[in-house]
Amino acid sequence: MDTRIIKRISPIRARRSRAFTVDPIFRSRLAGYDLRRLGASRDTIYLLDAALCIRGFNSEYERFARRNGGRSLMRHYGLGAAVLDGFTAFYAAHYRDVFRRCLDERRPYSKVHVSSSPRAFRRYRETIEPLREGLGLLVSHRLVETMVRSEAGSFDPLVHLSPDGLILQCCHCHRIRNHRLKGRWDWLPDETDDSRFGVSHGLCPQCLNTYYPNLETVEL
Ligand SMILES: [Zn+2]
Repeated sequence: MDTRIIKRISPIRARRSRAFTVDPIFRSRLAGYDLRRLGASRDTIYLLDAALCIRGFNSEYERFARRNGGRSLMRHYGLGAAVLDGFTAFYAAHYRDVFRRCLDERRPYSKVHVSSSPRAFRRYRETIEPLREGLGLLVSHRLVETMVRSEAGSFDPLVHLSPDGLILQCCHCHRIRNHRLKGRWDWLPDETDDSRFGVSHGLCPQCLNTYYPNLETVEL
C-alpha cells in the first residue's frame, strides 16, 4: 500500500470533531472538568441540568444521535431538550427515578445495560456522576461488548427450550434463556425474529438488576 496515501488520509480523519459542546451558561458549573478529554472520549457523554435538560454533549454523542436518527434528531436531543422526552414511557419513568436520586442524594450511579436489535447486540456501562452542589449530572455510556448477527451463536432446542417447549425471552434485551448454563441468556436474533416455537417473556438477571433493583430475585 502507498504510505503517502495513508499520510494524506490521516489528517482528514484527525480533523473529525473532538469538541465538547456546552451551553455557555452551564460552562461555569464544569470548573474542574477537562472538557478536551470529555470531548475526545469514545464514550457517549452528555450533561444534564437539575431540570433534566441537556446542557452539553461530546462529539461521540452527536455521532450516536445522527447514526440513530439522522440530523433532525439533534433538534430533539440538542442543547436545551428535555432528555426524558426522547425515551419511551417505561424508560422515561426509570431514568426520571435514577436521575432524581443521583441529584438528590449526590451519589454516582453505575450499571451495565444490554441493548439488542435483530442486527446487533451491545452491552454498555452507564455511569452518572452528580456535579458539585447538585447542579447537574454527567452521563456517560461506554460500549463494553458488541456483536453483529453473524457472530451470534446458534439455537439449540435442547438448550433454549423450556421443558414445556417454549422460548423464554427477556422483555428488555430480547436475549433468550439458556437452560443448560445457569444465569446465561443468549442473543439469537435468527431464532427470535420469527420463531417456530412459542415465546414467553421474562427478565434476564442483568435487566432485572438494572431496571428492577428493588425486586427480589426469584430463581426459576
Ligand atoms: Zn435482559
